[in-house]
Amino acid sequence: MRITAIETLRLEEFANVLWVRVITDAGVVGLGETFYGAGAVEAHIHDVLAGRLLGKDPLRIEAHSRELVNLPMAQASTGAEYRAASAIDLALWDIFGKVCDMPVHQMLGGLCHDRVPIYNTCAGYGYVRSNSIKPVDTWNFGAAAGPYEDLNGFMTDAGAVAESLLEQGISAMKIWPFDPAAIENDGRFITAAQMRKAVEPFEKIRKAVGDQMRIMVEFHCLWNLPTIKRIARELEAFDPTWYEDPIRMNSVSALKELAASTTVPICASETLGSRFPYKDMLEAGAIGIVMTDLVWTGGLTEGRKIASLADTYHRPYAPHDCTGPVAYVAAVHSSFSQPNTMIQESVRAFYTGWYTELVTELPRIEDGHVLPMEGPGLGTELRPDVFQRTDLTCRVSKL
Ligand SMILES: [Mg+2]
Repeated sequence: MRITAIETLRLEEFANVLWVRVITDAGVVGLGETFYGAGAVEAHIHDVLAGRLLGKDPLRIEAHSRELVNLPMAQASTGAEYRAASAIDLALWDIFGKVCDMPVHQMLGGLCHDRVPIYNTCAGYGYVRSNSIKPVDTWNFGAAAGPYEDLNGFMTDAGAVAESLLEQGISAMKIWPFDPAAIENDGRFITAAQMRKAVEPFEKIRKAVGDQMRIMVEFHCLWNLPTIKRIARELEAFDPTWYEDPIRMNSVSALKELAASTTVPICASETLGSRFPYKDMLEAGAIGIVMTDLVWTGGLTEGRKIASLADTYHRPYAPHDCTGPVAYVAAVHSSFSQPNTMIQESVRAFYTGWYTELVTELPRIEDGHVLPMEGPGLGTELRPDVFQRTDLTCRVSKL
């Protein structure tokens, strides 16, 4: 089997998302995806990576994984080079599964769990749907498109969101009420009034549902170290499950200092590319929970090594979502195939919202748990109407 063409697709309406289709002479087509900077990733795939892949055997996944980031300027990052490699890696695993007529989680070693608990990332329907992912600017509150406008929900009535999630059996939620203060002050300090306001959702959740709800706190890398240490101390009273991306995630020593100052584990991070920065942070004891985004970090090939590295350090693994429907599906395959999976990120405003506009199949969620995908490969395809859209840009490199 040989790779005969590589096709990229993107839509103006969902301008963050780029899909790649790896086409073979056996008639098998693999689907991959990445998120953010779609135009840059598209250019890199056609200008650089197509030349390394066309004519090659798509099942040499491990060798391609190394070759796709074999560039002096792409050693460990989530830059366009890594995002491009990630999208292609997903497509290669999809091909492998389709050739063997088995789901990708089987190709990765098989099911470690019958079902995996989820937490709800409390985004709304418009969150990161548009062209930028700058915090607060792209919260995109609009007229509620459905019942799960959870971002507006946690900012105004977090107790009600917690109750609504528990009714669906979902007992963990992620919120980011500190972002407005961080943007206002450039993350340099927080006033007493800002602290009181940002803490309100935590008070409301605990008042409404007590300790039935686990709370993950997302900080989006917006704070400096002294300020986040204050915030971390303040929130400990609410027993959060983790602090995610509390500072810019480029300093092992700063993260280690923070981790030593709080009882709450640090979750890191979909912003780290490849396993090497994870190793340094794990060695330093700076990470309590390991998160990856498979469409940023080098795909399933690198993602499973990161999960395994976490397990080596006795740390749980928690795959990221919030980036696109194929990324979500890939994360779920990864969750099921890793023994140390703690919980799978999911966004009910997305898996009942814009994700359904783009792909044929999404993971089934029941009683606060995600179930394994069933079809061969990743088990999902772009919907036929995506190919008919007038806002579609499609580019092909051929043998
Ligand atoms: Mg995050």
